[in-house]
Amino acid sequence: MGSQPKLCILFSRQEIDATVSRLAAEISQSYGDKHPLMLGILKGSFMFLADLVRRLDFPLEVDFIGLSSYGKDKQSSGKIKVTQPLRSPIKNKEVLVIEDIVDTGRTTAFLLDYLRQQKPASLKLCALTDKPARRQVPVPIDYLGFTVPDKFLVGYGLDWDEKYRNLPDLYIIEDKD
Ligand code: 5GP
Ligand code: MG
Repeated sequence: MGSQPKLCILFSRQEIDATVSRLAAEISQSYGDKHPLMLGILKGSFMFLADLVRRLDFPLEVDFIGLSSYGKDKQSSGKIKVTQPLRSPIKNKEVLVIEDIVDTGRTTAFLLDYLRQQKPASLKLCALTDKPARRQVPVPIDYLGFTVPDKFLVGYGLDWDEKYRNLPDLYIIEDKD
């Protein structure tokens, strides 16, 4: 066994808190009277979604969809599959997708395409973090928390090999390979 990977803090829980509040204010302006469906991408968005919806004081719905993810590897395979389908149809709903991170953009581009085929009334994207240096497929982010460097992040829902999701702050993980 190697040594423990090193974690360096990127955004503290206080900074995350302020950013989630800002996003909630922006989202409230557009969705306050629309009864949107907040659609979290499993598993990385669970904490962000939970914090976000607690700051929204209008009627909304929550659902989750599961997509294949990195596992222990850094690289996105490019092949995405739905591992947990939607519970109910999204036809004619105002759908706001909640993502943890847009990296190459492949996962999100696939998902937006997949959802669009089901004819929602509207479809927008809210991402906690954006890693533009690695983008391969263009993705329009309507609500963005943080732009982040080309490093592997963990904490606040994001994992490395299923660990670290429970950390309340966002970290860069180093020496993990
Ligand atoms: P993409 O398809 O945009 O390359 O990758 C999207 C997914 O890869 C994200 O939703 C996330 O699950 C995973 N991912 C990308 N970058 C990171 C990262 O820095 N940390 C973690 N934990 N997951 C990442
Ligand atoms: Mg994800």
